[in-house]
Amino acid sequence: MSDYSYPRKDAEFLINEVIGFDEWCESAGLEEVNSELASAILEEASRFGTEVIAPLNVVGDQQGATVDENGVQETPGFADAYQQYVENGWGALGFPEEYGGQGMPKVINTAVDEIWQSCNLSFSLCALLTHGAIEALMLHGSDELKSAYLPKLVSGEWSGTMNLTESQAGSDLAAITTRAVPNGDHYLLTGQKIYITWGDHQMAENVIHLVLARLPDAPAGSRGISLFLVPKFLLDEQGNPGKRNDVHCVSVEHKLGIHASPTCVMVFGDNGGAVGYLVGEPNRGLMAMFTMMNDARQSVGLQGLSVSTRSYQQALQYSKERLQGTRSDGSRFPIFEYPDVRRMLMTMKSVTEAMRGLAYISSAEIDLARHEQEPATQAQRNARVDLYTPIVKGWITEMSQEMTSLGIQVYGGMGYVEETGIAQFYRDARITTIYEGTTGIQGQDLVGRKFLSNKGEVLGHYLAEMQGTADELSGSEQLAELGAALSKALDSCRTVSEWLLAHAAEDRNVAGAASVNFMMMLGFVSGAWVLGRSALKAGQLLAAGQGDREFLQAKLITARFYSEHVLPRAEACRSAITAGSASMMALNEEQF
Ligand SMILES: Cc1cc2nc3c(=O)[nH]c(=O)nc-3n(C[C@H](O)[C@H](O)[C@H](O)COP(=O)(O)OP(=O)(O)OC[C@H]3O[C@@H](n4cnc5c(N)ncnc54)[C@H](O)[C@@H]3O)c2cc1C
Repeated sequence: MSDYSYPRKDAEFLINEVIGFDEWCESAGLEEVNSELASAILEEASRFGTEVIAPLNVVGDQQGATVDENGVQETPGFADAYQQYVENGWGALGFPEEYGGQGMPKVINTAVDEIWQSCNLSFSLCALLTHGAIEALMLHGSDELKSAYLPKLVSGEWSGTMNLTESQAGSDLAAITTRAVPNGDHYLLTGQKIYITWGDHQMAENVIHLVLARLPDAPAGSRGISLFLVPKFLLDEQGNPGKRNDVHCVSVEHKLGIHASPTCVMVFGDNGGAVGYLVGEPNRGLMAMFTMMNDARQSVGLQGLSVSTRSYQQALQYSKERLQGTRSDGSRFPIFEYPDVRRMLMTMKSVTEAMRGLAYISSAEIDLARHEQEPATQAQRNARVDLYTPIVKGWITEMSQEMTSLGIQVYGGMGYVEETGIAQFYRDARITTIYEGTTGIQGQDLVGRKFLSNKGEVLGHYLAEMQGTADELSGSEQLAELGAALSKALDSCRTVSEWLLAHAAEDRNVAGAASVNFMMMLGFVSGAWVLGRSALKAGQLLAAGQGDREFLQAKLITARFYSEHVLPRAEACRSAITAGSASMMALNEEQF
């Protein structure tokens, strides 16, 4: 058993009251799905997570994955937990029934993923990569590849990986050199990939690699990259894992955190070529891989939330136990009573609730887009998901650095020593702003592809929707101050949008210089919007005498704290953005 407890009350309030799950399921025609079923799933996932997966978190940190002549050996205990995960059908939860999935909406899957990630980030990564591989195959794979590989990937009996990075090609994937040469009905791949998460292990019968490589006649740059499926074991006539393919893990990285997640150097084709099959069209691999990356980016955003939540829960508990003050009567009191410790705890509480709101609302939007029948509305919903993705990934993971650092700060010196376990969350969180596109890449994606490319139209719709919430808050006597603060922040967002649209074209450094602050600003404002929506709902339920009074009142106060103490950071972003790029780019190399 672990000390982690999934914040079900907050999650169910969000899903049922703020997102309106039941009405939505009904309108999407999902007759068998409702909040009762969702609640039962979350209860069972919490039980499985806390009893089976969470206890392996510390052992995984202390005894990370290793590699020997038989390949990667995962942390003891992981294989058994993974087996139970597969047998209980957890991997199949969100996938279509035609491939053996259970067809649950994405938002429920996201809530369940939060549980796995909070319990054990390293363990959860294996399924995360598998899910990305499934998404890419479902959208771009041939019928033959789908029927051969999807059912086993969906069940989790086989796991998936994502092989993009090479030593000279990280953020700049255009530089990849792994080669794929046609050879009858398949291709032979040669090359080396680095940093491949769960690139090898013994928990699943087969590991299915999705690999970016170049065909012999491919044009240079990102337009000459194709996507291939390369199984660890080639399938025999019956479709079962048979002969070993020419792909091997040659070493695993020693790293700051997520020690139990093997980060592998993979070599393809040391003995003549790894057999691979083309996924999608030649030279269009990067686009297909983006399907996988977008899914994974939302999941990595969720990781930021999950690790922050775990850190918050542990810090809260410690703050109530650690006696470090003496009253005039000589009795001692816990650090929980100090305003500055409350500042840290309230920051962690309000920001994690804002993160959860944003991540779940974004997942619900994916569901809405999938089930939308009307093409124009579906396109708008997809554009909103695209806008959310870099904010979910970038803002949440950046904030998770601060949240897990605050967790250590609450512990004082005991936070800095490893035995309390709080430092692991800080170390584990550190990767989240790096993989699946660094924060810089998320900022660039947001400004370039999601904002400038449509001249701010998609963001304009989002700001208008948030303004609707601000107006509603302003109309409520109890919440008017929250409405005023959100309106002011939205005015700043509009100022910044206009400024960027006007200046980005005249100076090519402007967008790059502004990008991360722009992403963070939209994150802070989105957080206030989410908590504002929650406060409106909490106010309505309290007025009607419904729901858990203590919980709902805490929601109102948490939204107020965020509005007063966190949202003002959006203004700092505005100032930095509109200051432009001049001082950032002015020094020459020698002046540094
Ligand atoms: C633990 C771990 C697991 C990983 N798992 C996988 C995996 O499963 N599969 C896989 O393929 N890869 C994986 N990666 C690789 C990861 O995605 C890359 O490390 C990441 O994309 C950054 O690439 P890079 O390390 O080469 O950094 P670089 O690209 O060299 O970036 C260095 C710095 O420059 C900045 N920068 C670079 N280009 C730009 C730009 N255009 N605009 C603004 N700033 C820029 C970056 O933001 C960063 O701050 C993993 C990495 C790690 C450490």
